[in-house]
Amino acid sequence: MPLKEKLSQKFLELAGLIFVTLDKTGQVTYINQKGCEILGYKDWELLGQNWFERCIPKAHRDNIRKVFDRLMTGDVPPFEYYENPILTKSGEVRFIAWHNALLRDDSKEPVGCLSSGLDVTEQRQMVESLRDSESRLRAILETAVDGIITINDHGIMESVNSAVERIFGYSAEELLGKNVGILMPSPHREEHEDYIARYLSTGEKNIIGIGREVVGLRKDGTTVPLHLSVSEFSVGDQVMFTGILRDITEQKTLQEQILQSERLAVIGKMAAKVAHEIRNPLSSISLNAELLEDEIRSLECENTEEISSLITSMICEIDRVTSLTDEYLQFSRLPESKLIKGSFNDVIVEIAEFLESELKQKKIRFEHEDSKPEFEVYMDRTQFRRVLLNIIRNAIEAMPDGGKLKIWTEKTEQHGIVNIRDSGHGIPDENVDSIFDPFFTTKDFGTGLGLAIAQQVVHEHGGQIRCSSEVGRGTTFRIELPLETNNNEEIQ
Ligand code: ADP
Ligand code: MG
Repeated sequence: MPLKEKLSQKFLELAGLIFVTLDKTGQVTYINQKGCEILGYKDWELLGQNWFERCIPKAHRDNIRKVFDRLMTGDVPPFEYYENPILTKSGEVRFIAWHNALLRDDSKEPVGCLSSGLDVTEQRQMVESLRDSESRLRAILETAVDGIITINDHGIMESVNSAVERIFGYSAEELLGKNVGILMPSPHREEHEDYIARYLSTGEKNIIGIGREVVGLRKDGTTVPLHLSVSEFSVGDQVMFTGILRDITEQKTLQEQILQSERLAVIGKMAAKVAHEIRNPLSSISLNAELLEDEIRSLECENTEEISSLITSMICEIDRVTSLTDEYLQFSRLPESKLIKGSFNDVIVEIAEFLESELKQKKIRFEHEDSKPEFEVYMDRTQFRRVLLNIIRNAIEAMPDGGKLKIWTEKTEQHGIVNIRDSGHGIPDENVDSIFDPFFTTKDFGTGLGLAIAQQVVHEHGGQIRCSSEVGRGTTFRIELPLETNNNEEIQ
C-alpha cells in the first residue's frame, strides 16, 4: 500500500467515525475499523454484504433503502446530514449521525456513496433523559400547590409557576421581567430590596434558608398571608433566588379559631367558678329582700310604699344578675353536640311559631323561604335552635321600629346553608370583627355571649358562620353546616 494511502487509512481509523462506502446496489465496498467495532462484525463479515439487510433495523429498512435507491438514480439530491439507527451483530440498535457524499464515475454517474457516521446513541439518550427530566420538573412545578418564583439578583422575576398566578391573581406574562416587589405591600417591598442588596454585599442571611411569614399583595389590592422560604443558587456566575410561597390564610383562620376556643374554654371555667360563688348568696339576698318587703308592707309605717319600691327595684337588679350568671353557666357547660340528620326548615318553623306574637307586636314582617328540593344536615337540634334564636333575637333588637326578617335556606355540594337577614340598623365596620368575641356588646343590657355561643356551636358542627352588614340597611348572617359528617356516620 502506497504511503499516502496508508496514511489516509490511519487517519480514518483515528477519526473515531464510521466510514463506509456502498456501491450502487447497497453492497458494502469498504468499512473502517471503527465501523466494525461499533457494529460488532469483522470487516470480511460485512464486505460484499447488503448494508440494508445486515445493518439497518427492519422497521427502518425499506424507507432508508428507498431513499438510497432514489439517490442513486439521481431523483433526489444527496442528504447532507441525517440520523438513522443501525443494528449491531448482537441485535442492539444504535443511533448514528451520518454525513453522505455521492461517489460518481468519470461520466459523473452515481456509482455509490461514501458515508461518515458519528455514534450519537449516548448523546441522544442524554438529551432525551434531559428533556424527560425537564418536562417532569416542569410538571412538578406546575402542579405544586406552593407558589414558586425565581428572581435574579436585581429582584426581577424570571419564572413563576401556576400556583403563583392563582395566589396573586396575575398571569405569568404580567409578572415575568417585573420586580418581585409588586407582590408585596409597603413597607415589605422596600425591606425586600434591602435584604437582597445586603445579602449580596455582606452575605448576611436574613431570609435565606429560613422560612418566615410575610404578607403578599394581590393584583386586586387585597393582601394574603404567606409563608415564604428562600434559597439561593447560581447559573453560571449569576446569583439567583428561589422563593417558595404557601398561602396560609386557612391556617391563620384555624389558628384564630383555636385561640378563640381556648379563650372560651378559660372563660368557661372561670364563669363556672364565679357563677357558683355568686349564685347562692344571690338567691339568699333575693329571698331576704322579698321577706323584707313583706315585713315592711305589714308594718304600715309612713314611707312603706317608698321603701318597698326600693326593695322591688333591688330584687329586679338581683334577678338580672342571676340571669346573667345563669347565662354564663349555660355557656360554660355547653353540652357535647349530638349530631343527627335534620332539616333546617323544621327548626325555623318551630322558632317562627314560638316568636309569632312577639314579631307581630314589634311590627316585624317575617318571611321564610324553603329551599327545594329538601335537604338534611347533621345537627344537634337543641343547640342549633339556640343558635338561630340568638341570631334572631339580635335581629329583633336591631329593628326597634319594626322591619323585615327573612330566613332562607340553600344547598351547595357539601353544605346546607341558612341565611338570616334583617332590615335593622346594621353593624359599623369597626365592630364587624368583634361581634363574635365573648362579652362584646353594644347594648346597655347585653351579655355579649349570644354570637360567641352561636359561633362555638356552629364550629362544633364542623360549620362556618359569617356575617355581612351595611349600616342603615341591615345585616345577614349565613350559617353553613356540612351535609355529611366526616365519617359519614350518624353520631347518636
Ligand atoms: P348581645 O346581643 O348580648 O350584645 P351578641 O353576641 O348576641 O351579644 O351580639 C354582639 C353584638 O353584635 C351586639 O351587641 C350588636 O352590636 C351586634 N349585632 C349582632 N347581631 C346584630 C344585628 N342583627 N344587627 C346589628 N347588630 C348586631
Ligand atoms: Mg345577642
